[in-house]
Amino acid sequence: MTGTGKGVPAGVALCSETRVPATLRAVLRGFDSAFVLLSGRGATSFGCAMRYAAPTSIEEAVSVLAGDVHAQVYAGATDFIPQLRMGRPEPGVAVDLKRIDRLTGLRREGDSWVIGAATPSARLGEEEDLVAELPGLVEAAALIGSDQIQSRASLGGNLCNASPAADSVPAMVVNNGRAVIAGPAGMRTIPVASVVTGPGSTSLAADEFLVEFVFDRPPPRTADAYLRFIPRTEMDIAVVGAGARLTLDEAGRCREVSVALGAVAPTVVMVPAAAGILVGHPLTDEALKRVAAEASAVCNPIDDKRGTKAYRRQVAGVLAVRALRLAADRAARTGS
Ligand SMILES: Cc1cc2nc3c(=O)[nH]c(=O)nc-3n(C[C@H](O)[C@H](O)[C@H](O)COP(=O)(O)OP(=O)(O)OC[C@H]3O[C@@H](n4cnc5c(N)ncnc54)[C@H](O)[C@@H]3O)c2cc1C
Repeated sequence: MTGTGKGVPAGVALCSETRVPATLRAVLRGFDSAFVLLSGRGATSFGCAMRYAAPTSIEEAVSVLAGDVHAQVYAGATDFIPQLRMGRPEPGVAVDLKRIDRLTGLRREGDSWVIGAATPSARLGEEEDLVAELPGLVEAAALIGSDQIQSRASLGGNLCNASPAADSVPAMVVNNGRAVIAGPAGMRTIPVASVVTGPGSTSLAADEFLVEFVFDRPPPRTADAYLRFIPRTEMDIAVVGAGARLTLDEAGRCREVSVALGAVAPTVVMVPAAAGILVGHPLTDEALKRVAAEASAVCNPIDDKRGTKAYRRQVAGVLAVRALRLAADRAARTGS
């Protein structure tokens, strides 16, 4: 398929919906059954206006986006396709990012881990050194949906879908993740915490997309953890998610502490008081009780069928403490 749409460079695959390639058609078919299960609604068929582009370089993707203000990127499409099926307007061009090598990689580069924005979340758990160094980030990615979903779902999609309950986001934020963004003006890097501005909205311009995430490799006696509470054992949306990361000193006292909560406010919220309470001290029950109270206090949750505001606040405190304890156990085991 050769590009024929406005602004689409030659060589970029671009087709009408009726010529959507087999891989995307398979994903669409997969979501038919997932959505009948999840929503009780029958699957609907798509209109025919949506075109498809599969750039193989960042420059080509930038060019496609510049050529159509109604273009939309996707990676695993595990949010994108269900949202179309639920009636969200189709983009002019659906831009598949998974054919761009840099977006689907995962590598250690000096003192950093670099994870492509479209890398399937299942890939994270296959990288033993990443699991050892950032176990909380990996466990957050491993909670996204089922094995099938994780073979498609990406961190970039989880972040840019901008759900307050997105599981990977608190884990990325406590690890001080940075997002590398491509657009017509070139590349820029911002903290992951600055990407989401509210439910369903991000700070990215319409012609920008995420390329990759960068995380510093942890110093000695440092570890992270992510825990979530859901009403079922799996395949549900977090009532609360809690990410924690801490560094211990040689005596077992906290040197650095970071706690972030998901699903309790329009965007992920930090618990800055946790550092004030814990830094310079061991994780005592008394100190953790104060952290729990602070975690509950920073929440600005909603009431819904999964839990009341009061319930979410209470669970936030409990999970923040459990995540800190888990991170501390891991940090103590990493040695000097
Ligand atoms: C059955 C099922 C279970 C699920 N369970 C969970 C769960 O437990 N926890 C959870 O957090 N989520 C869950 N999800 C939601 C979804 O799987 C995740 O949010 C996933 O990480 C999205 O990644 P993706 O690559 O599929 O995103 P896509 O669907 O491809 O994209 C999602 C959004 O992000 C944008 N986007 C994608 N990539 C980029 C990029 N590189 N730059 C800029 N914008 C981009 C797209 O335009 C779109 O708006 C579930 C979904 C399903 C269908």
